[in-house]
Amino acid sequence: MTVLLAIGFILLHAVLILLMPTHAMAASYAFLVTAPLLAAASALRRGLIAGLSPAHGWSLAALSLLLWTLGMISSLRLDLFAGNSNEAPGETMLLYILYGVPISYAVATVGAESSSRVQRGIDAILAISLGYLYFALMFSWTTLHGASSARSAEMITYMFDIENAFLVVATAIRLLAADALKTRHLFGVLTAFTMLYALAAAYYNHHVAMDVAPNIGSLYDLIIDVPFLVFVILAWRAPPRVVQGLNPSVALVRFVRIGSPLLLALSVLAIALLLLRQRFSLGVAGVILAVIGYGLRSILSQVRQIEAQDVLRHDRTALTELAFRDDLTGVPNRRAFDAAMEREWRIAQRTQRAIALLLIDVDMFKLFNDRYGHPAGDACLREVATVLRQAVQRPADLLARYGGEEFALILPDTPLAGAYEVAARLCASVRHINLQHGDSPLGRVTVSIGVASIVPTIDTTPQKLVASADRALYEAKRNGRNRVELAV
Ligand code: GH3
Ligand code: MG
Ligand code: MG
Repeated sequence: MTVLLAIGFILLHAVLILLMPTHAMAASYAFLVTAPLLAAASALRRGLIAGLSPAHGWSLAALSLLLWTLGMISSLRLDLFAGNSNEAPGETMLLYILYGVPISYAVATVGAESSSRVQRGIDAILAISLGYLYFALMFSWTTLHGASSARSAEMITYMFDIENAFLVVATAIRLLAADALKTRHLFGVLTAFTMLYALAAAYYNHHVAMDVAPNIGSLYDLIIDVPFLVFVILAWRAPPRVVQGLNPSVALVRFVRIGSPLLLALSVLAIALLLLRQRFSLGVAGVILAVIGYGLRSILSQVRQIEAQDVLRHDRTALTELAFRDDLTGVPNRRAFDAAMEREWRIAQRTQRAIALLLIDVDMFKLFNDRYGHPAGDACLREVATVLRQAVQRPADLLARYGGEEFALILPDTPLAGAYEVAARLCASVRHINLQHGDSPLGRVTVSIGVASIVPTIDTTPQKLVASADRALYEAKRNGRNRVELAV
């Protein structure tokens, strides 16, 4: 539908030029102002639909198109009302060249919404400076009235060529590296538009305006309609729901996302360098601004990156801590036990020293739960864990919740006699807290402990130590509970 309307637009434009030879200029201007206005309107409409992130890009595209429209209106005013038919009046030329600034800004900033306010401020300063440098450069070749020589007018057209080529490359890079559908749509439309516009402008500026039809009002004007109408057609369509074609590589996406703000600084640098000959100090200022602006921006992104890394590191430490701690009692969990056992076992193997293991099991705990309820059972486990932890003295010893109502204590560098002493002390400490247990023979909570100690040899494993301690624990239960048994 929009395609048909666009064709109708061009046909009507042609017919009016042909039918009204005396008013061809005015008629043609009406179309040349309407086409970019329609494009700007369709960009705004797409921005409203697109949602937050690309909306900013669509608005910038609309701003570019409006600046171009103002250029055309300025040309219309000078041609029709001021009688100034100079081909390169400053005001018009400036508006045409400024058209590239918002698109450049969009290329640099769409998708970089995570950048800080200061970074966005720097981007804005660079964009405004780019506009000012364009202004300075333009008015070094022309005046409000117009270009003083054919040579100056030619320089201006080259400048348009450079800007247009830059916009094609910049938008195409963003298109190639677009990984989100909406961003891909935005830069797809902008790339198609900037390409067609670059071709149309080059042909019109170098060929039509220079030789065949210097004034608006010829059929050549139809060329100018095309890029804007294509913009309308493409922006009007909803973006495809599925990604077609190649997906950009993650490396490319990252590279372009991080590198795209450089494009803005590069534009400032390029225009500043062009200015050096005519306005040396302004050119130098532009170069310095581009370098400092980009440098500062990079430093800020690195700072943010380091901040993000610190947060990640902190989170990872907290998560590791959580992963190795038992929720209920706060002592290390089974995972931590397994890791510690592996580590201590290897050390004991290397140093050929004894490693001891205590398996500590709460006596008749099922009955405790049955009588006092599960929450009371939990509280009991917490108290037992606290007492055990307090009774463990050496920093290298590791107390863990082994499972259910069972704890384990690894004692590096400890022969059986020493381990027995520790076990006896733990057994007594639990008894001494006097936690009431109506269904236990002593009337309070007690533990049974199985103790084993091994000097690891090549053919022994930690499982053997655990199995020995488990057998000793079983013996302790069998021999009446609330006691320590040694593995034989
Ligand atoms: P024994 O003296 O032979 O060790 O008898 P016991 O009742 O202590 O042993 P048993 O293995 O039969 O029962 C262990 C009980 O511990 C059963 C289970 O419900 C309870 N238990 C395990 N984990 C928890 C826990 O996290 N909270 C509570 N409240 N109870 C638990
Ligand atoms: Mg038990
Ligand atoms: Mg048990």
